[in-house]
Amino acid sequence: MTLLACSKIAWALGVIAWYVIRLPFERKAKRAQVADARHRTLREMVLLSISTLGLGIVPAIYAATGFPKGLTYALSPVQVMAGICVFAASLWLFWRTHRDLGRNWSVTLEIKDAHQLVTGGVYAYVRHPMYSAFFLWAVAQALLLPNLVAGPAGLVGFGILFAFRVGREEAMMRQTFGPAYDAYCARTRRIIPGIF
Ligand code: SAH
Repeated sequence: MTLLACSKIAWALGVIAWYVIRLPFERKAKRAQVADARHRTLREMVLLSISTLGLGIVPAIYAATGFPKGLTYALSPVQVMAGICVFAASLWLFWRTHRDLGRNWSVTLEIKDAHQLVTGGVYAYVRHPMYSAFFLWAVAQALLLPNLVAGPAGLVGFGILFAFRVGREEAMMRQTFGPAYDAYCARTRRIIPGIF
């Protein structure tokens, strides 16, 4: 098997593992009643689609067909190893964030019945550790798929979702939790502990 084939398989296994981690939480979260879905808008659906395109569809087409051809470069074993390590770190963080957020988690922006503000576990270090995990996934994709479109597509797709969502998510949390959320914001950064 070529290094490229190994790298594509590692990427695909990472995506499958992410889904396996998410599935049980998705089931649980569906059971929790939604108290405020005002933020679950068409805009949110468009952002989610852009992110899915960049992290899922564009790289899957490349992995399966090599499209877009001509924009592919040679891989090194070091790059593949780095990609695997970053994906592993991302999956670990995904699992932790889902566990810490529990029934408060949702795919789009919404407030559940009896929604609790989570500030412990990995949420003690940053306000959006699940988004940190998505960025790590996107970096892993850029390392594992040696194509100038399919590689960075995840960073672009998820970057757009993050940029257009995070301010609204924080406004929604502030509206719901008031001073408790302000205090939480005062002691944490968004996605990189102590930096950003
Ligand atoms: N931005 C967070 C959570 C993503 S899931 C992260 O990256 O880890 C999105 C949902 O999580 C939002 O609808 C919001 O209701 C909820 N949420 C976000 N931060 C939260 C927190 N600190 N405590 C409880 N729920 C939170």
